[in-house]
Amino acid sequence: MAKVVTRFAPSPTGHLHIGGARTAIFCWLLARHFGGDYHLRIEDTDLERSKQEYTDSILASMRWLGLDWDGDLNYQTQRTALYNSYVDKLLENGHAYWCSCTPEEVDAMREEARAKGLKPRYNGQCRTRNVGAGEGHCVRLKAPLTGKVVFNDMVKGTIAVDVSELDDMVIRRADGMPTYNMAVVVDDYEMGITHVIRGDDHVSNTPKQILIYQALGLPVPIFGHVPMILGPDKQKLSKRHGARAVIEYQDDGLLPQALVNYLVRLGWSHGDQEIFTLEELVKLFDGNNMNASAAAFDPDKLQWLNAHYMRTLPLPELTELLLPFVEKAGFGTVDKALVEKMASLFRERASNLKELAEAFRPLLISAEQLSYAEAGVKKALTEEGRQHLAALRLAYAEADFGDTATLEKIMHDYVEQNSLKFKQVGPPMRVALLGYLGGPHLPDVMTILGKAETLARLERAVNL
Ligand code: GLU
Repeated sequence: MAKVVTRFAPSPTGHLHIGGARTAIFCWLLARHFGGDYHLRIEDTDLERSKQEYTDSILASMRWLGLDWDGDLNYQTQRTALYNSYVDKLLENGHAYWCSCTPEEVDAMREEARAKGLKPRYNGQCRTRNVGAGEGHCVRLKAPLTGKVVFNDMVKGTIAVDVSELDDMVIRRADGMPTYNMAVVVDDYEMGITHVIRGDDHVSNTPKQILIYQALGLPVPIFGHVPMILGPDKQKLSKRHGARAVIEYQDDGLLPQALVNYLVRLGWSHGDQEIFTLEELVKLFDGNNMNASAAAFDPDKLQWLNAHYMRTLPLPELTELLLPFVEKAGFGTVDKALVEKMASLFRERASNLKELAEAFRPLLISAEQLSYAEAGVKKALTEEGRQHLAALRLAYAEADFGDTATLEKIMHDYVEQNSLKFKQVGPPMRVALLGYLGGPHLPDVMTILGKAETLARLERAVNL
């Protein structure tokens, strides 16, 4: 099998949205599965709406999702001369012709066809007129007059379109610019693309592009058109459904692993398996089993997957993703090893990275800055609770904080020696050290706080 080469071709007119992200993931997975190449092409020919900041944002989202690309970026605006050299080839080989019809004339032809109950189309009047280049002239493809364009779509199966549905499309506009379909064919050929996976909003372009390939005598790639993602109510997906740009999910603290897993499953299946590592996806994704019908976006399932990855991601990986959130939370520079340690203690209690970073707050501020949850104070910092804290403060003042087991033993000995129940001691300690009831194992908390800070907190709670 020839080397598999795929591409993702975003238009930089906005941030990367989840539909585009899913297409990109499929393209990336197919290339990686077959040990091929995955390219990025920036389709920036809409000069008014295309912005470099969107290209940058799309690339940042690619990196965040873990979709590395091969080779250089291609910008369509830099390739006009290349596209036009192919238009010239078509003019030379007789598969294209100059057309001097004005837009008004073409509109009239369409109207005429419509009035006859036919498909509105250009009537081909310049096909045989030998018009030649000139002001206001465009170039049209000389499409076959009979027959069908047939292709076997990876997602939708066989698609056949009668050429009578198509017309002699413009391939170079009167202003000298190549049209979109022309540019895409030249790019996909020049970039050696073997598999074009894209959204099915492009499925009507494909027969037109195939006619251009055929006219140029070029091999036609394999196409796969993935259906759009719908909202939970099966309507067009919108912000209202919680569907947003990838960068927004990132800012909210979602894990990229969760989004990748979620989006892949939304358009592809492997039995009823729901959770896949990236390695598994690369191993399993061979271009089969992509869903032909549109799937509905389910924010709850995305959250469920996120919770799974929050619990199970290798700690160093989780820590890397977490560092920017720790910084954003305003804790200053926090030692990476400490972030990792805190992540191990709090990960089960947070549903995303933002929450997780926020959970560190009680450990990273000083005793005076700690705020107490009202319920915790009421329940645990009672007269009795504060007496226990005062006694424990004395015991901890003598302790070696380097050893978590010792810190644990002090609490247990105190409970035992005074014939108490642990619940008389644990809750006041929690409120004193963290400001609230709940939270991770107390000796771990004390180890992170260190001796001086632990004692200061106990002191403050005693005197509250
Ligand atoms: N630039 C097109 C888009 O963003 C992609 C076209 C293609 O993949 O062929 O929808």
